[in-house]
Amino acid sequence: MRKIRVYPDSVLNRVSRKVTKKLLATDEVAGIIDDLVTHLWEGTGKDAPVALSAVQLGELLRIMAFFLHPDGPLDDPEEIVVLINPEITYKKKMRWVNESCASLPGRKFTLRRFKICKIHGMLPDGTPKTFRGRETLAQVFQHEIDHQDGILLSQIGQEVR
Ligand SMILES: [Zn+2]
Repeated sequence: MRKIRVYPDSVLNRVSRKVTKKLLATDEVAGIIDDLVTHLWEGTGKDAPVALSAVQLGELLRIMAFFLHPDGPLDDPEEIVVLINPEITYKKKMRWVNESCASLPGRKFTLRRFKICKIHGMLPDGTPKTFRGRETLAQVFQHEIDHQDGILLSQIGQEVR
């Protein structure tokens, strides 16, 4: 299984490319999706990730996996969603939040995020899909799309010590 890349691994600052329909149907992409879901499902403890992007496994493709209810209890694998080529289509109301990242283990940052955010992308079977996130889920969407643009929390947030 692909390992989670941590700072200062330079892959984390690279921009991921879109997944074409042709690529989506390959074993390569299926393998990346499998690893993302397995990491989310097997993550334990207070630092367990609630979402991951393919770049964090060293694969520069716009693929994210997330728990639909990131505030927990994270005990249902059916709540893990995989979204391909996610884009923010709506955002509202900035607020200050704390956030952490599996690629910056043990660190916490404060920053401004939109409170409400919609993203549009494709499910692994190619079906177009929109998700609306509030609060933590909206944070997750913004955080993962930042990853796909090569942006780490440590570049846009203030570290909490
Ligand atoms: Zn992260």
